[in-house]
Amino acid sequence: MPKARSGTAAHQPPTRLNDPTMKRVLLAQPRGFCAGVDRAVDIIDELLRNAGETVYVRKEVVHNRVVVEGFRQRGAIFVDELDQVPAGSLVVYSAHGVSPEVRERAKDLRLHSIDATCPLVTKVHREVRRFIDAGCRVVLIGHAGHEEVEGTMGHGYGNIALIQNEDEARAFQHAGPEPLAIVSQTTLAVSDVRRIIEILQERFGNVELPPVSDICYATENRQNAVRALAPHCEAVIVVGSANSSNSRSLRDVAEQLGARGYLTDDPAAIRAEWLAGVTTLGVTAGASSPEGLVEAVIARVRELDPEFVTVEPFGQSEPPMTFRPPKEFTDLLATVGAGETRAQAG
Ligand code: SF4
Repeated sequence: MPKARSGTAAHQPPTRLNDPTMKRVLLAQPRGFCAGVDRAVDIIDELLRNAGETVYVRKEVVHNRVVVEGFRQRGAIFVDELDQVPAGSLVVYSAHGVSPEVRERAKDLRLHSIDATCPLVTKVHREVRRFIDAGCRVVLIGHAGHEEVEGTMGHGYGNIALIQNEDEARAFQHAGPEPLAIVSQTTLAVSDVRRIIEILQERFGNVELPPVSDICYATENRQNAVRALAPHCEAVIVVGSANSSNSRSLRDVAEQLGARGYLTDDPAAIRAEWLAGVTTLGVTAGASSPEGLVEAVIARVRELDPEFVTVEPFGQSEPPMTFRPPKEFTDLLATVGAGETRAQAG
């Protein structure tokens, strides 16, 4: 498992941005793993090494094919639903979070659950509960079918509506007297969410919003980095899987700024056409993409066009951020570390 933080190389301002004779790669900072992904990946890694039993994981722990495949090869078993997990087993929830219904099901099946939900997703779950308890009707801005959205919707117990885009915001009906409260998926494009909120504000007047935006720090920082970088590039490659929401948002931001945007988690999939007419290529990585994959992508670019000699970091790396692991995880490791099995510890 390539351990990767976001771009940590010292800031070196690019020196030849406008020199059309030099081909170069601009490497966005920050990029790659965020604190929530780091935490989830560390939990699975540690359990695989020390738990002494099969580690089941509900859904892809993070949306990156390479990361998931690496864990699968080390013995982790990924399942879509808890019913696929033998009673009494150890199961980890993904970083995208789960609904209360899933937790209840885990209790019914007597599963030992380790919750790798990112604390910034848990924050949104709490907001949903708080708004509903305050008598609001809650709207979640997000993409249907995404695990995070399913988990957050579950915290609304049916009293929450999903809006995916501006058209749906314009068509949304709300006739009741209760105020609207708006929360969002953590990994969307900042500008898309802002426009949807504006539409709802225009249509329904004052709406309740969380004190701090639900778009997480990692999503926002990576989008800002691409926003600064894309105007200097003819094309931007985003290293990330197709089901990674924050990676797709990075590609969208690059395209909105006029660069050709490509999303891939497979260096072999990069084609020579992607580099046609490109003298400055931007490269960034979604929050679930390991740095090793970024390096492999750059190697592939150079294989296709050896004139891409220079790789220049672009932007400022973000301050280090870590999230504490969940208590049930540290308790389990303490048990195993003391030479007991989970069953012996009762
Ligand atoms: S992208 Fe944001 S919300 Fe998702 S795991 Fe990373 S820090 Fe948490």
